Amino acid sequence: MKTMSCNQLGDACKEEFHANTFDEIAAISKQHGMEMFQRKDEAHLKTMKDMQELMQNPEAITDWFENKKKI
Ligand SMILES: [Zn+2]
Repeated sequence: MKTMSCNQLGDACKEEFHANTFDEIAAISKQHGMEMFQRKDEAHLKTMKDMQELMQNPEAITDWFENKKKI
């Protein structure tokens, strides 16, 4: 069982996600991000914007994922 917090994933709150694999955590955190997006939570909106910029660069996003998997 892995535990990661929203903060560890570059987000802006202390919500924790529990799952067996990093991919599952990534999926849960994405859903959490969408919820916060709908609530117009400013800290999460900023993080999502940063992520979208990161997504423009395939190398950067791969590095990002590799780094988070090591946590
Ligand atoms: Zn969060």
